[in-house]
Amino acid sequence: MTVGEPIHSQLRINSYGSYLRRRFGCRVSKVNVDGGFTCPNRDGSRGTGGCIYCDNSSFSPKETQALIPVEEQMAAGMAYHRERLSSDKFIVYFQKYTNTYGPVEKLADLYRRALAHPDVLGISVGTRPDSLSPAAIDLLTDLAREHYVCVELGLQSMDDAILTRINRGHTLAEYLDAVERLSGRGLEICTHLIYGFPGETRNGFLKTARLIASLPVNSVKLHQLHAVENTRLADMYRDGSWQPIGIDEYVATACDFLEELPARVTVQRLYGSAPLAIRVAPNWNLKNNQMWYAVINELRRRGSWQGCRLASEVRAA
Ligand code: SF4
Repeated sequence: MTVGEPIHSQLRINSYGSYLRRRFGCRVSKVNVDGGFTCPNRDGSRGTGGCIYCDNSSFSPKETQALIPVEEQMAAGMAYHRERLSSDKFIVYFQKYTNTYGPVEKLADLYRRALAHPDVLGISVGTRPDSLSPAAIDLLTDLAREHYVCVELGLQSMDDAILTRINRGHTLAEYLDAVERLSGRGLEICTHLIYGFPGETRNGFLKTARLIASLPVNSVKLHQLHAVENTRLADMYRDGSWQPIGIDEYVATACDFLEELPARVTVQRLYGSAPLAIRVAPNWNLKNNQMWYAVINELRRRGSWQGCRLASEVRAA
């Protein structure tokens, strides 16, 4: 499939995994590493308490200080993916917390050490829109001259009232500013979204597909809002002030979203899961690929696919 070409009716979704395979000509997996970062929405520089769904216990000093060298984390992750998925090459994913929140020297050291491995094609860096200094963007731009570099921006909701309600600590305007500052530099941009916030409506959420369609965003990750232990969201579930959406509502909304998402945007994820030991609600007990196929099956039932509701000029943009 080329950029702008309608999604094949059998394919339904432009998956990120397929995109990587087309782009690099081999099986590529993402390997998660913990770079030892924290979050400005936790340490008081931007906010305190964090997002209402963020696991408090994961911010204990023990977790953030006892770091295994990134090379060891990569080796373990690569061995796992080689064994399980026969992966050939890897993208190192700096996932935990805010991975551009630190001195640029620390960022450069970590990113370059990850990229030094001969089987690593690139890096993916998860961060917040308010945590991208000009120096960090210049560093990522420099690395992108020779490697694949994706910046994963947490937006979660485009509704500022919801962002305030979930104590997100940034606005839509800051996300738009970050996208503008990242664009045109050879970087890929991924946007993280969640559906099911307190007070959120399906129509309100679906505006996000139109927003993404208007921006130079390369991929999205979407999941349902879910509560884990040690979060304010878990408290809200227990005191009845938040009810999780049902699985049928989520699948239907994910399909509506995809139908309005341009085919050029790849889809990295459609589900969020948590270990049983800390899972509070909802309790769908699905594996990632089960949700993926639930969405594909619903698209098939509808006779629809990603981008099918867009005018042809938007599909091809
Ligand atoms: S931005 Fe991420 S790491 Fe920071 S509080 Fe929110 S969910 Fe937690």
